[in-house]
Amino acid sequence: MSKKLLLKDAHIEGIRYFDVYRKQGGYEAVEKALKMTPEAVVEEVKTSGLRGRGGAGFPTGMKWSFLAKPEGVPRYLVVNADESEPGTFKDRYLMEFIPHLLIEGMIISSFALGANTSYIYIRGEYSWIPDILEEAIDEAKKNGFLGKNILGTGYDLEIYVQRGAGAYICGEETALLESLEGKRGNPRLKPPFPAVKGLWACPTVVNNVETIAAVVPIINITGAEYAKIGVGRSTGTKLISACGNINKPGVYEIDMTITVEEFIYSDEYCGGIPNGKKLKACIPGGSSVPILPANLLLKTINGEPRYMNYESLADGGFATGTMMGSGGFEVLDEDQCIVEHTMTLSRFYAHESCGQCTPCREGTPWMYKILKKIESGEGTSADIDLLWDVQRKIEGNTICPLGDAAAWPVAAAIRHFRDEFEWHINNPECLTRNYGLANYA
Ligand code: NAD
Ligand code: SF4
Repeated sequence: MSKKLLLKDAHIEGIRYFDVYRKQGGYEAVEKALKMTPEAVVEEVKTSGLRGRGGAGFPTGMKWSFLAKPEGVPRYLVVNADESEPGTFKDRYLMEFIPHLLIEGMIISSFALGANTSYIYIRGEYSWIPDILEEAIDEAKKNGFLGKNILGTGYDLEIYVQRGAGAYICGEETALLESLEGKRGNPRLKPPFPAVKGLWACPTVVNNVETIAAVVPIINITGAEYAKIGVGRSTGTKLISACGNINKPGVYEIDMTITVEEFIYSDEYCGGIPNGKKLKACIPGGSSVPILPANLLLKTINGEPRYMNYESLADGGFATGTMMGSGGFEVLDEDQCIVEHTMTLSRFYAHESCGQCTPCREGTPWMYKILKKIESGEGTSADIDLLWDVQRKIEGNTICPLGDAAAWPVAAAIRHFRDEFEWHINNPECLTRNYGLANYA
């Protein structure tokens, strides 16, 4: 049974509301943190080993300690709730069902960072959630946890919710800041990082929803206790949104010591694959991370079980490993066509490119066009090589990670499933979709 820190009260009726949340010990972490110094709170988060839960896994305490503190300049905390990675829906769950956990985490984090104004930037498609968040903010304010002189400590904080307008790129932290400033959401060149020059050119920490929510249990149980959960540098718990060909899609909290096999087949999590189908592949961390075929997914190249954590999923590098990413876990059974799946992802990235850099602007639609040609049975072997070449020229040559995110799934699909691409070229029908012949396990 996995330890639950974030979702422990998710089943309680009415947990969305202040009174119920408070009865379960809600806002006790704020009371505790406001008696500490901001530096001590930062230290607690550092000790916990918490890593950014949006996808990059950057150490949160380290990011906080990078925050510049020039005299007389405001600092900001911005929560990235622009959860748009295909297959990722764990932040939606948190915000929809336990909004006070995010608000509580924001109060503690803003206090630690010395921010008096903080923002939640939420994707436009989550149209019903801003009302839930604003209601939680109002409740927290009425109960003295937000606004002026919080709990009589002299600390002031206002939180505002800003809706995005439906662009995936606004989840990239600097595009998000541009959008929050009222401009078109084009990513900025880094450095400078937001910690030095962020919102309105002021020092800003941008953290994912789950990252900020995790600060609450860290303060409650202490950073040292949090660090004991999990393994190695994968401390604490992680939310995983599971979807695709599984019996029990949903959001699960894991402690990062379970194996991928256990996660897919155990009844506590995904509950196996419907209709006794075989596992073909999985994308464990949202659409941007490399797809892995079943044999490499269940075991590393050294024959060790693969675990649901940052290190084990990445074991072997891109040739034989993948990434934890955002925790958007998508399972593909034997009937899924990798060429079609990759084509669908390519269409998405081509559509979402902001167009600033030539390799991404020109390369993403080009990859989609080639994939469409191959998928429709009109490709040649040279098209596979061309596709490989185009993705290579995008990777590492763009302003923001969208270019890499578009290139990696294509590279991994060719690397691990070249036979499916060749089948599409040599045969008019799709091997897996029409005949169910594939067996990659
Ligand atoms: P990144 O590795 O460039 O940065 C991670 C964080 O660390 C950023 O906040 C950055 O500002 C900070 N940072 C890094 N070096 C720093 C330094 N020297 N000084 C100060 N701060 C520093 O990655 P990223 O662009 O933030 O995120 C990419 C990831 O986002 C991808 O791996 C993907 O998995 C994920 N992603 C998630 C979603 C989603 O919906 N959750 C959507 C798209 C992409
Ligand atoms: Fe825009 Fe793509 Fe360049 Fe990112 S990589 S800045 S999305 S063109």
